[in-house]
Amino acid sequence: MNEIYFDHSATTPVLPEVVEAMTAYFTDYYGNPSSLYQTGQRSRQAVEAARQSVADLLGADDPKEIIFTGSGTEADNLAIKGVAAAKAKRGNHIVTLAIEHPAVIEPLRHLEKQGFKVTYVPVDKSGIADPAEVVAAITDKTILVSVMLANNVIGTIQPVGEISRQTKARGIALHTDAVQAVGNIAVKVNELGADLLAVSAHKFHGPKGIGALYVRKGTRLDSIIHGGGQERGKRSGTENVPGIIGFAKAMQIAEAERQVKAARLISLRERLVKGVLDNVDEAIYLGDPVRRLPGNACFSFKHIEGESLVLHLDMMGIAASSGSACASHSLEPSHVILAMGYSAVAAHGSLRITMGRATTEAEVDKLIDVLPGIVARLREMSPFSAEATAETFMAEFGGEEHAHDH
Ligand SMILES: *Cc1c(COP(=O)(O)O)cnc(C)c1O
Repeated sequence: MNEIYFDHSATTPVLPEVVEAMTAYFTDYYGNPSSLYQTGQRSRQAVEAARQSVADLLGADDPKEIIFTGSGTEADNLAIKGVAAAKAKRGNHIVTLAIEHPAVIEPLRHLEKQGFKVTYVPVDKSGIADPAEVVAAITDKTILVSVMLANNVIGTIQPVGEISRQTKARGIALHTDAVQAVGNIAVKVNELGADLLAVSAHKFHGPKGIGALYVRKGTRLDSIIHGGGQERGKRSGTENVPGIIGFAKAMQIAEAERQVKAARLISLRERLVKGVLDNVDEAIYLGDPVRRLPGNACFSFKHIEGESLVLHLDMMGIAASSGSACASHSLEPSHVILAMGYSAVAAHGSLRITMGRATTEAEVDKLIDVLPGIVARLREMSPFSAEATAETFMAEFGGEEHAHDH
């Protein structure tokens, strides 16, 4: 087991209070919420209380606007495919960002095969989209704009509120993948102006396999899973009662702790970034220094495979990810880092550190302590390092300051 966990954007441990809240719903209150007798109705009441709580935490007007799903991925799929099916007669164009999570990119690719047109709006070097560019991509055929709230690789926070003012004025549905945001930054559906918003419990110390989609009243959405008509017909399948209870409990705790945790993580992040940049040569700190998730620090190192770095850190008991975290079975460079204008070389050498509620200063210091040695050893082994110079590296890297030197 890893002693130090720096991968909170991949998943988080379930809190003991959350497990405790869930347990009785596996064993004692196991009734099907659709059953009419008392055991069933006990489950129904618990599910509806959880729905109310999630609605309140998101600032929704009505608990009916919350649909529980089997994951964050499913919530994104429901938003995208559900709107596409409901509005296909009105138009076939969707606008999104080039840096979205696969849970958004892949359903869009699937729709493209069925004749939909998708515009992937680029981001700037710091990983943030220009709202004007997103709005400029809208045509009279656009039925949906999908812009993630916080990025899972580089942690950048997107200007969703600014974009929604424009989509609202044009009557176009706005979806936001808020999976990385909840528990880390404020997420209120009315402030964001989102019509659809996806959430996943395991990213904020809840159980895996339970997500939710907020759907603003009046937003047209077809179901993608058909059956017994649960979740107001939008998501059939017997409700994951313990999961739903755990979702609400984890979200209550996450929201109660959020501000204090964020302040602590920002100071740990600053310590980490300074420690890494001071001690490792030719390292780049990726993303925006301010408009990012409190616990996210993402780097790229000269001539290093992110995956090798992750394996070497693992041998020292440290769990972290490379930038291509969400497709780490492949050795594809991160599409997020490429979309920021960096080269494949830079995208390959990325390391994502995501800290959480239990991360300590000592853990950060341990990483700062071991990282320079690991990087140096990997560079010695690198086939590029002999002929590489800082100059060719910066050119390959796509580093802005140096690229125009040539
Ligand atoms: C983790 C994640 C998802 C997928 O959520 P799952 O519940 O793991 O399916 C979607 N979007 C983002 C931004 C994520 O970080």
